[in-house]
Amino acid sequence: MGFSLSVSQADAVLRALKKDYRVYAPKRFPKQGRYSDTDIIRYAEVDSFADIVWDTKSDYPAKEVITPIQQAIFYFTEDEYRASKVKTKPILLLARPCDINAQRIQARIYAGNGGYDDLYYIRVRELVKFAVMDCNGGDDTCFCVSMGTNRTDDYALALKFSADGLLVQVADESFAPYFQDMPQAEYSHAFVEENELKVTIPDLSDKAVRMALKSHSMWQEYNSRCISCGACTVACSTCTCFTTRDVIYGVNPEVGERRRVTASCQISGFDQMAGQSEFRSTAADRMRYKVLHKFHDYKARFGEEHMCVGCGRCTHRCPELISITATVNKVSAAVEEIKASMASQ
Ligand code: SF4
Ligand code: SF4
Repeated sequence: MGFSLSVSQADAVLRALKKDYRVYAPKRFPKQGRYSDTDIIRYAEVDSFADIVWDTKSDYPAKEVITPIQQAIFYFTEDEYRASKVKTKPILLLARPCDINAQRIQARIYAGNGGYDDLYYIRVRELVKFAVMDCNGGDDTCFCVSMGTNRTDDYALALKFSADGLLVQVADESFAPYFQDMPQAEYSHAFVEENELKVTIPDLSDKAVRMALKSHSMWQEYNSRCISCGACTVACSTCTCFTTRDVIYGVNPEVGERRRVTASCQISGFDQMAGQSEFRSTAADRMRYKVLHKFHDYKARFGEEHMCVGCGRCTHRCPELISITATVNKVSAAVEEIKASMASQ
């Protein structure tokens, strides 16, 4: 079932949807960007068609709606505590295929992993339905096609925006009443089939090759280039690491709240243990850990797909212009070099 809506008709549908759903989409926040006079685009509740940034990829991922960068998990007083609460109104989340596929990846980590469910993830994730947004071809950091994440069938609505309005495909019949009396049109969603950027995924199935890669000289470049700021992981659609912080309200240290806060494996001290020892003490070690986690370790554990969805946000946000695609292609080249060297011995 398809519809073609003008801007005012799209606003009318949005008003009707908002009675039953909190509607989140990429939204522009003027002058909140990294540099002076630049904007930031991130997810927030939207009230009108004009609020939705549909022609530019958001700087930060859709996951922030489900797992915000920080949230209170419980409140404590001297002798008791209670869990935080969340709004129970359902969520309609407008997202591109990479962000929707990222939620399947995040769910494997947060839900049922090792026999445990993450309450704070699941209680929000259960409220979410997706409306897939057209990608307009993606941008020069996207490589979803290489990662197989350019398509999804996990959506209630499919949307193609233009300055004049909206084409809609209704995939979930429960959304049909919102489009009653709207002009029907043929629309079936088309996914991006090619990106400007491509990555060659390294073949890391051989343990001896992985061990040799660990000490390969290619990683040394990152000791001088990476400043260990963690911006890449904060912007990542699939990263899940967090730490906890206690916020004390007043003079009594036993009254306050515990928050969970996004953490980054790229920051020095992330893996520090008692005695100040660290598994990965250099930027090169941390980069190797991140890249191999995304392009080998997750798949080795969970089986089906790599952890990277090719959204390109880490490349886009890196202040040192470190490109994930260039890095992965360097890993692939190093792996081929290692294999050739092993074969000649
Ligand atoms: S590693 Fe980079 S490209 Fe891959 S999902 Fe994370 S932010 Fe996106
Ligand atoms: S790769 Fe870039 S964004 Fe990530 S920690 Fe290093 S400098 Fe920061």
